[in-house]
Amino acid sequence: MDNQLDFAPCGYFSISSSGIIRSANRTLANMLTYERDEMLGKHIESFMSVTNKLFFHTYFYPFIQLYGHVNEIFLSLRASNQLDVPVLLNGIRQERDGEVFMDCVVVEMRKRLEHEKDILHTKKRLEELYQATNEANKKLELLHQEYEIKQQELIHINHQLETLALTDPLTGLRNRRFFQESLQANIAMFHRTQLSFSLFILDIDRFKSINDTYGHPVGDLVLTGLAQLLKAESREIDTVARYGGEEFVLIVPNTTYENVKPIAERYRSKIEATPMGDLRITASIGIATITPEDTELTLIGKADQALYDSKTNGRNRVTHAEDKA
Ligand code: GH3
Ligand code: MG
Ligand code: MG
Repeated sequence: MDNQLDFAPCGYFSISSSGIIRSANRTLANMLTYERDEMLGKHIESFMSVTNKLFFHTYFYPFIQLYGHVNEIFLSLRASNQLDVPVLLNGIRQERDGEVFMDCVVVEMRKRLEHEKDILHTKKRLEELYQATNEANKKLELLHQEYEIKQQELIHINHQLETLALTDPLTGLRNRRFFQESLQANIAMFHRTQLSFSLFILDIDRFKSINDTYGHPVGDLVLTGLAQLLKAESREIDTVARYGGEEFVLIVPNTTYENVKPIAERYRSKIEATPMGDLRITASIGIATITPEDTELTLIGKADQALYDSKTNGRNRVTHAEDKA
């Protein structure tokens, strides 16, 4: 065998048609840690495990008989220490001097196998990571949904709290705080649009005597009854609020000095005509209509002064702040 083939960077052997090794290069002998002479004359299958023998039988022989060659057979040869050496084998059937030979080359596949193992391991790891990410994403989505629900609840609760903070607990009407905000908004609106509005302050006449005569709980029922009446008589755009004690305020949009008094008069007469349980009450009303110079304080001051005038002029009556002038 020439030197180049003997030390070629692949194992080489030639077997007879019955599988006896007729020649082998040193690279193959080194690969399997034998002396070359130990291999010559032996059956190729004596350098294989049982499973590899079976594979060799069912694949190598039939194939090479049929096609004259085999390519890229992956199998293991057995080294002198009985360990398997994975190899890739190419073979060709040739006739020399009337005898059939099967010439084969083998390349060690250890590194390639390790690479494949690495790749498989990495692939598995990636799949695990992908699954973990998927699960984490699902959890995140659930958490997000929970968060959205909680946020809606919070918005709802905040809304309820806000309503509570602006409601008078006894009568269920808007409270003084809501009234102040509404008054500011109406004044701002007036400056923008010149649409005037009026403010009523309404005070129950001689309410103290109802409390004194029938007791505080009856007084409370009267306040609640009056609140219902005011609410029922008002329009959607009006603000009706309890200012404090037995005083109520109304903001009545789109009214002027000329047309507002009949509206207040309607409230006054309705109150006079409506029994509150066994009791009848009357109320006095003071009105002020917004002017460009007015602030919240001056407007309230004017309506309050008009109310005072209604009281001093005999109660159960309506006075507009501009009546005096
Ligand atoms: P006037 O005609 O001058 O307005 O007389 P008045 O008795 O209505 O006025 P005054 O200010 O002397 O008395 C108001 C009374 O309203 C005194 C107070 O006990 C009563 N009052 C204030 N808030 C409440 C309440 O929430 N419930 C009850 N029952 N009474 C209240
Ligand atoms: Mg009062
Ligand atoms: Mg009163």
